[in-house]
Formats: sequence, C-alpha cells, structure tokens
Amino acid sequence: MPKTVAIVGAGVGGLATAARLAHKGYEVTVYEKLAHSGGRNNMLEDCAFKFDMGPSFVLMPDLFEELFRYCQKDIKDYLTLLALDPGYKIFYPDGTSFTVYKDSQRTAQEMERLEKGSSEAFERLIKEISKIYTQVKPLLYHCFSPLALGNPRYWPLITRLKTFQSYWDFTKRFFKSDKLCYAFTFEAMFVGVSPFETPAFYSIITYADHVQKIYHPLGGMYQIPRAIEKLATDAGARLRYNCAINRIRKCRGTFLLSCDQGSFESDAVVVNADYAYTQTDLLGRKIPHFKYSCSVYLMYLGLKKKLTGLAHHNLFFAQDLRKNLSQIFKDKTMPEDPSFYVHVPTVTDPSLAPAGKEILYILVPVPNLDGGSGNFSLFEKRIQDIVFERINATAGVKIQDLIEVRHAFYPSDFISYYNIKHGATFGLAHTLMQSAFFRPMNYETATNGLYYVGASTQPGGGLPVVIAGSRIVADLIHNQPAEGTGNKE
Ligand SMILES: Cc1cc2nc3c(=O)[nH]c(=O)nc-3n(C[C@H](O)[C@H](O)[C@H](O)COP(=O)(O)OP(=O)(O)OC[C@H]3O[C@@H](n4cnc5c(N)ncnc54)[C@H](O)[C@@H]3O)c2cc1C
Repeated sequence: MPKTVAIVGAGVGGLATAARLAHKGYEVTVYEKLAHSGGRNNMLEDCAFKFDMGPSFVLMPDLFEELFRYCQKDIKDYLTLLALDPGYKIFYPDGTSFTVYKDSQRTAQEMERLEKGSSEAFERLIKEISKIYTQVKPLLYHCFSPLALGNPRYWPLITRLKTFQSYWDFTKRFFKSDKLCYAFTFEAMFVGVSPFETPAFYSIITYADHVQKIYHPLGGMYQIPRAIEKLATDAGARLRYNCAINRIRKCRGTFLLSCDQGSFESDAVVVNADYAYTQTDLLGRKIPHFKYSCSVYLMYLGLKKKLTGLAHHNLFFAQDLRKNLSQIFKDKTMPEDPSFYVHVPTVTDPSLAPAGKEILYILVPVPNLDGGSGNFSLFEKRIQDIVFERINATAGVKIQDLIEVRHAFYPSDFISYYNIKHGATFGLAHTLMQSAFFRPMNYETATNGLYYVGASTQPGGGLPVVIAGSRIVADLIHNQPAEGTGNKE
C-alpha cells in the first residue's frame, strides 16, 4: 500500500481525489501548473466582474454530495446549491422559444405549444431514459478493462443501454418536430460531441437536466473547486501551485516527478492533467489516433446595465443544426451559422457583478485544432456579428454599446492554460468506441502505482462524472492491489 501520493493537476478531478485520499490517511501532495486550483472550472476577475470561465451547469448534485459524504462532511457547510427556475431557455432562429421550468407541468405546456401531444411523448421518453439511468449510474463508480466485455454479465447492457443507437435516433422516435428533438439532445454538446454521433446512453444527461433539475452554486461556479480544495486541505492534503511537472518516471519502485523547481518522489501518482497530453508529454509515449471533442470560442463581457429577455442559461440554435454540427465535427470548418450558448449568471447571482451590471458569457462550439488551422482571427468578427445580432434581437438592445469589460478565450488557450491536447475543450470525444470499456482506464497495467483521473478517462467528462472518477481512483489505491474488490472489472 502506498504512503505518499502525488497528484498532477488541481482540476476538480485532482482535488476530489486528493480530498478522498487525504481523508483515508495518505500523505497527498497536489502539483498544479497554474497559480490556483480548478483547471477548466476557472474564474477571471476584472473590475469587480467575476466571470466563471468554464462549466456553468451543475447537474447530478447527488454525485457532488457523495464526495463530501465520503469525507464525512456535509456539502451544505461548503457549498450552497440553488435549483434554477427556469432551468434554461432555447431560442430558435424563426423567433420562437422553448423554456424549461423547474415545474415539469409548466414545461409540458411549453412542449404542447410547439407540438401537440409532445408532453405525453416526453413522459414516455423520460420513462425509457430512467431505465438507462438506473443501469448507468452504478457503472460510474467502476473502472472497466476492454477485456471485461468478455464477461457474459455485461452482455445484456449492450441492448439495455441502446448502445448502437445514436442519442438523436433514440429521441427522434418520440417527436415529429425537429425543434423538440434538438431541445432534448443538445445536451450531447455538454460533453463536446454531436447527438448524431454519440450513443443513446448519453441521454442520461437529458434525465439529469429534466428530472433532477439544474443547479447554480451561490457565488458562482468557482465555488466548486474552492469548496473541494478546502475539503482536501482540511483533510491534510498539500497543494503546490506554479509547479508544472514535465516528466514522470518510475525508478526502483518509486515515482520521480520533475519540474523546474526540482524533482519529487512518491509511492504512487495520480495524473489529473489531460490524458493524451500526459501520454506524449509527461510519459514520452506515442498515442493511438483518438477522436477528440470539439473546442469552443468564448467571450466574457461585463455590461454596464442589466438586460431583459434572457434567462440564466440560454441556447440559440442555428437554422440548420445538423449542418452546423457537421461543419464542427466532420468538415472541421468554422460554422457558417453557429449555434451558441449564453450564460447570464447575474440573473440569479447579482454578487458576480457590480450593482446594476450584468455578466454575459458567450460560448460558440467550434472545431478542435486536430488538423485544423487554428487561425481564429479570420472568423472572429463574423461570428461575433452573428451572435450579437441574435442576442440584440432578443434583448432589444445593442450589446456592443453596453460593453464595459471584454475578454475572449480561444481554442489555442485550452492548450496554453491547461495543456489540453488539440484544444479539445472536453478532452477525448464521448463516442461509442471511447466510452465505458473503451475509454482510457483509471490505472496502468504496465506501470503499477500510476493512476488517471479526469475528463478523458473513465467514467468520462463533466464535473459530476469526473468527481465519480475520483472515487474509482481512491478506491483502487485504498483497496489495491486486490483484483475484483469492487471497482476493477
Ligand atoms: C467552456 C467549458 C464549459 C463546460 N461546461 C460544463 C458544464 O456546464 N457542466 C459540467 O459539468 N461540465 C462542464 N464542462 C466540463 C468540465 O469543466 C470538465 O469536465 C472538468 O472541469 C474537467 O476536470 P478535470 O479535473 O478532468 O481536468 P482539468 O480541469 O483540465 O484539470 C487539470 C489540471 O491539470 C493541470 N495541469 C496540466 N498539465 C499539468 C502539468 N504538467 N503539471 C501540473 N499541472 C498540470 C491543469 O492546469 C489543470 O488545472 C465545461 C468545460 C469547459 C471548458
């Protein structure tokens, strides 16, 4: 059993693993390249505007609660989660909209406005997805090797989880209108893939969002890493910032981590840095040709005054969403007519901006840099014009005249800030062949004592799922090396 554990990266995955292992009595040190924790769950402050730079939706709060319970703490002492109402608003290009409320009855009325009989179809859809959710949730706490597929115990899952159906095809059977079908599959974009390409079992995100509802942490999304960092340090973990590890080696049973400040020894290592980057840059290996998620272009705007007409979360769909997604994922060209997302957290949490002012965070999905040009300046102005025109028409103002503070974040920034391969915002794509048994495992078979946690490993990306992954790694280390102790399959 290791005594000392080094964790490379203080993203939510690294912090949550540190908290669990420190709670179990291990000597844990986290090495982080940046000056603070959180990774992609980052924050930018300018003129008293507090911009959350990455995640904005809190789904599956039970997975967050589990982490605090594991460390024998109550999440309520660390984080205040508010259920949003409305959850979000969708704006279609023909001027119609669809609002998802906390109260499912009100949402049902919205559906009926768009398609008669659709609320009843939606109930049937949710019934089907809840069966998938019941099967998938326990799997989120297990690490599977591809060899486990040989175990007949798992074969029924192939049909029960609708493995060979796409998220889109699975949902389309319930609705005539593409509008509603888009509304119940766009969630695939939460993990950076197209609903036309990702398997139907990712519809558990639709379940989370409609059945479990959507939450916001009071004080902003950055309260999440802050809370988990406190959980970890309260349990005795140490964090070293501005410490970019540049090599990991194993020498006579001990791991050596080198960085500009020197080298550190440890009995075990958990890498939270991006999986593909770790293989090439930290371990000096070649990697197979993975498929990567899309990237995003982000604008963070501090506005002089409040807006009307927008909710906390807003989605603006393109005229032809199928073409939009095909340009991003297949053609790898900049979308002509982009769909985009607008986060206005000050609707719920005015403390994030000076009194009477508003935050606008605009996210536009774009191709990753795997084989792409990366010359974003050619497209930026055109994308901004389209985005502003649609927001202006909805809010009845000229956003451009209200901007007090302005920042942008480009696909290449995901590489320079967080070492994310190809600037693929959500890491490895969640395709069938990169999900579950086929996603990189949380432990190395070739190098005993080397573990992985984070979006590109099992069970997958998104804050709650990465937190579930930290449980897998902590249990592997604490129970190791016995096979079959619960989470090695
Ligand atoms: C724009 C955006 C929107 C998103 N929206 C949502 C959402 O609404 N809801 C949701 O649940 N999820 C969302 N996500 C996904 C979610 O943010 C990620 O899945 C999650 O934060 C990943 O955490 P992680 O621990 O795997 O990795 P990371 O956050 O990438 O952390 C890895 C850490 O490792 C550090 N590191 C890298 N290399 C080294 C090195 N050599 N030495 C030391 N440290 C190193 C990095 O600096 C970083 O701090 C979003 C992500 C983005 C970017």
